[in-house]
This record gives sequence, C-alpha cells and structure tokens, in this order.
Amino acid sequence: MPDPTPKPLLTGETRDSLVDRLQSMGEPPFRAAQILDWLYKKRARSWDEMTNLPKPLRARLADAFEFMPASLAFSRQSEDVTDKLLLELADRSLIETVVIRAPQDGVGLTHSRKTICISTQVGCAMGCVFCASGLAGFRRNLQAGEIVAQLLQVCYREDTRTPRARTELASFDNIVVMGMGEPLANYDALLQALAILNADWGLGVGARRITISTSGLVPRILQLAEERLGFRLAVSLHGATDDVREKIMPVNRAYPLGQLIPAIRTFSAQHGRMVTLEFILIEDLNDSLSPPEHLRDIARDLHAHVNLIPYNTVVGLPWQRPSAARQERFADVLRSARVSVTLRLEKGHDIDAACGQLRLMTEKPR
Ligand code: SAH
Ligand code: SF4
Repeated sequence: MPDPTPKPLLTGETRDSLVDRLQSMGEPPFRAAQILDWLYKKRARSWDEMTNLPKPLRARLADAFEFMPASLAFSRQSEDVTDKLLLELADRSLIETVVIRAPQDGVGLTHSRKTICISTQVGCAMGCVFCASGLAGFRRNLQAGEIVAQLLQVCYREDTRTPRARTELASFDNIVVMGMGEPLANYDALLQALAILNADWGLGVGARRITISTSGLVPRILQLAEERLGFRLAVSLHGATDDVREKIMPVNRAYPLGQLIPAIRTFSAQHGRMVTLEFILIEDLNDSLSPPEHLRDIARDLHAHVNLIPYNTVVGLPWQRPSAARQERFADVLRSARVSVTLRLEKGHDIDAACGQLRLMTEKPR
C-alpha cells in the first residue's frame, strides 16, 4: 500500500489558503479567522481548545490537518541567556531553534528582548568547511509549516515561563534566519513562512525585525531585492578575496565576489537600508590570510555594517577562534575607517550554540 497523502500542515497555511481549504470542506470563511486567532493569538495547542468551533467540526479538522509538525525533543539553557530547542519532525529529522535573551534594564529576564534564530533545512548542502550544519550532509528542505512551528514552540516555552503573558511576540523581539541550512536555497517555503510570521493574523512580527542570512546565492538575492518585502539581509562573507573565500565556502566558485558584491549593492539600493556582512574570525585562516583592509574596503564601498563573529569551535573540525587581542586588532582596522562594526560576544558558546552543532551531537549517538 502506498503511504496515504500527507496532511497539509496547519502552521503552513496563509489566511487565504485556509479559507480555500475550509470552503472545500463546506465551511464558511469566518472559521479561518477563528482558527488563526486560536493558533497565533491565544496559542491553543490542540483543536479541542478551540471551543467556539462545533465539536464535530473539530474532529473533521483533526482528520484534515496536521496541527503541529514539530515536537520538543530536548532543550538546553545556558546562564539563562541562551535557550536551545531541539525539535523533532514527523520523519524524525531534528532541527534546532535558538533563543538569545538580552535583559532589558531594570525589568530582568522575563521582559528581556529576544532574538530567535530559526532553521530552514535539515542539514545544509553548501559545504562551508568551518560549519557544523553541513557536516552530516543535506537531508531535505523544511516546509513552510515546519519553519513557522519553530516560532510557535518558542512561544509555548515563553508562555510557560510567564503564564499570564500569552501576547504576541513582543515588539522588540527579532527573528534571524541563521539556524541550520541555506535559507535562499529553500526560497518559496521561506517566503511563505515569513509571510505567516509577518501577517497581522499570524505572529505579527514586522519585516524589519526579520533578518535573512545567506551564504551568497546571487540570483536569489536579486530576486529578493525585486520583491521589496522589507526583510533585512545579512551576507556571510568570511573571506574578502576570492582566494580565501573559495577555500572555505564552495559557493564562491559559482558566485564569486565580482557577482556577489554588485548583488548586495542592488539589494541595498532597493531597500535603502544597510546590509550586514558577517565575518567569522578563524585563527590563521581568514584573520591573517585575508587582512582586515580588504573587508574594510568592501564594507565602505557597500556602506554595509560588519558583524565580526569569533569562531565557535566544532567537534571534529580543526579551526580555532583567535585570541581576544587579535580579534580587537582586526576590528580596530575597520573602526578607524569609520566602518560600522560589532564584534559579537558569542553567547551560548558553552551550549554549542553555533549553527548545527546541537543536532550533530544528538544525532551521532542515535
Ligand atoms: N546558511 C546561512 C545561514 C545559516 S549560518 C549562512 O551561511 O549565512 C548562520 C551564520 O553562522 C553564518 O554566518 C555562518 O557562517 C555562521 N557560522 C557557521 N558555523 C559557525 C561557527 N562554527 N562559529 C561561528 N559562526 C558560524
Ligand atoms: Fe550552510 Fe550557512 Fe553552514 Fe555554510 S555556513 S554550511 S551555508 S549553514
């Protein structure tokens, strides 16, 4: 017997697609608004909590849709600032979602500003030599509903921490698409998920608070620029010459800097906002082979912000993070040229917060 057709994921439906599906079940459009209100605003965790839907309808909906495609398999907390969620999908694939908290002055961690880092693929096919996400290869793209489910799982945890605060994600929270996978290689599902997170009937997170990080898929950067959706862009540069970048990021062979830099310029021009260049500092690799002056010149030319990230060591890989003094020297070259730069204090180093690492450690013993 062939597998039964998989059910559509409730968390992957837009309001319009849900209205269509309900209409084909003979239900009026207002039911879609009720269901979405339960799911995203009241954070119901089952059909049975949706008490203004007739009971027989709830049973039919349970047959027709997958309510929640990700379950919490494991979580780990570091000094109360970083929360790492390992989620299990229906096919037993594992993905990770990270919450990084920055306490707000005077109000403590319950009202902290959160940055939520989400995954878009199981594994990654891009093959960057320093990264844990690609080590176990690429398994599959996430569906839109699996991307959205990560945010709901974070909300469920927040609701438990502060039981009376079942509100939308706070207006100061940010979403970064920097977990496992190359987001722009899963373009359609990513944009569908972001539309749901962004919508007022969904999680209501403003486009400016959503940052997509890419290793540099030039045609997709240009496509995203055309769509003018308002999401922020971060580009993983990590090498400021083709020589160095090619050594550590195979994508540079397909899209060398001569194509990538103009694509970033186009994106900036369409959006009128600064793009971020991410640059991991890896000892004796890109911190000395690619002197900071090259990065400085690119950043000035693009009027981009630079995010320097001290490398997080990965079990099984030889790379190291440079000393703090070496990191500062690198940053100073940029600062003294008035480039806007942050030297990221790597939170969660102790819980392997760098992308893909927790999954790797959990899957190996399996
Ligand atoms: N695939 C996308 C988004 C996910 S990776 C991209 O590459 O941009 C998110 C960021 O984490 C990227 O800048 C990536 O290069 C960086 N990263 C990967 N492994 C890391 C490690 N071990 N230490 C520090 N940063 C790492
Ligand atoms: Fe994939 Fe990004 Fe890791 Fe490169 S850095 S392997 S693109 S997740």
